[in-house]
Amino acid sequence: MTVTRFAPSPTGFLHIGGARTALFNWLFARATEGRYLLRIEDTDTTREVPGAVEQIIESLAWLGIPADEPPVSQRAREARHAEVARAMVAAGTAYYAYETPEELQAMRERATAEGRPPRYDGTWRDRDPKDAPPGVAGAIRLKAPREGETVVDDLVQGTVRVANAELDDMIILRSDGRPTYLHAVVVDDHDMGVTHVIRGDDHLTNTFRQVQVYRAMGWETPRFAHIPLIHGADGAKLSKRHGAVSVLDFRDQGYLPEAVANYLLRLGWGKGDIEVISMAEAAAIFDLADIGRGAARFDYDKLKHLNGVWIRRADDARLTKLVLERLARRTEGAVGAITAERVAQLMPAMKERARTLEELADAASFLTRTVPLAFEPKAEALLTPEARIALRGLAAAWTGLAWDAASLEAATRVHAEATGAKLKDLAMPLRAALTGSTVSPPVFDVAAALGEAETRSRIAAVSGQA
Ligand code: GLU
Repeated sequence: MTVTRFAPSPTGFLHIGGARTALFNWLFARATEGRYLLRIEDTDTTREVPGAVEQIIESLAWLGIPADEPPVSQRAREARHAEVARAMVAAGTAYYAYETPEELQAMRERATAEGRPPRYDGTWRDRDPKDAPPGVAGAIRLKAPREGETVVDDLVQGTVRVANAELDDMIILRSDGRPTYLHAVVVDDHDMGVTHVIRGDDHLTNTFRQVQVYRAMGWETPRFAHIPLIHGADGAKLSKRHGAVSVLDFRDQGYLPEAVANYLLRLGWGKGDIEVISMAEAAAIFDLADIGRGAARFDYDKLKHLNGVWIRRADDARLTKLVLERLARRTEGAVGAITAERVAQLMPAMKERARTLEELADAASFLTRTVPLAFEPKAEALLTPEARIALRGLAAAWTGLAWDAASLEAATRVHAEATGAKLKDLAMPLRAALTGSTVSPPVFDVAAALGEAETRSRIAAVSGQA
């Protein structure tokens, strides 16, 4: 069975790059009917950001790609990492080395001065352990092969290789008994039964060393898929300066999780001319072979466009709930039942144009206010004395109506014809009077959603009569 994992370090919040890695792991597990696990790589306590673990888990839940099992803590497994390192010493595939940090520093400086790469020179590789200096705890180093090459058949990058002479004997267990990161990852992946390691291509160079640990232990090596990183539109590695990068920032800015997931998937994966795709649909066709090898560029406009597509596909009741939450935050209080009802009624019209939930909340915000409205300057300008008189006449002409958008529009047309006015000369000031703005959902939908009493009261507020 396929087992994938996402292995974030809690050194920061889950950003877009990590989320895409998680998504690919989740999709591959779904596509192959396997398992998708989460491992928190928390061995480096000095770099851990408080709250990061919770934030990562919340982000994955929001995106709809929670792990199939409770997260594994790497730190909690340190005894096991040490046990494996010692087993390697016993098996002769690793050895204790006793250099002090100063000696290692001097070794590196010597190598650099002589124009050689600063690698461990293998002093303790062949020395008799009996020569160990008394009272000094050694570090355990991998006895890496010196000849030949280490070859990785990467599922995205193709065959990549390195001459073993290029790799020195890395430390797998520090002299304080703590594992190094590269070693811990291998032991964990093996113990968790991981069959496919899908991760950012910044880890590609680590892979050679990790493969050597698998071989030293006689463990089966998983398949690797190293995915290209995400860059900003300017080609530089994506960072805060490009805009939002943390997953929850996108949530807060009004993006739907299915839109973010869809965008992240398309960022680096493609099949035919598919643009809009749900994760359930993607899970049925996802294949690592369709991941591109070039760096992907993050385009905020594309994401926004896609978000608009998903808003139009979204269920109105769900959108209403999300928009009401935003409106409540803006007004620092709960939104009343009548307003909630109006937001719900206008949702089909509002969602046609909005690209984010923020835009939807903007479009709905006039519903939370009451007379006297504050008018945008452009709206104010439409409310000329003549327009105010015309609105008074219009309100008087609206009699015996069913008070739905179609009846209101029909009655307004009849009234326009009867008075020789143009429909737009009534509709534009009407919009201004009802919303305080010059942009809104279709104005008769607005009047219908406000209901008769509120509509008349807003007209009266500008025309002196209802
Ligand atoms: N913890 C690593 C990171 O956050 C991932 C390591 C891996 O996937 O093997 O970049």
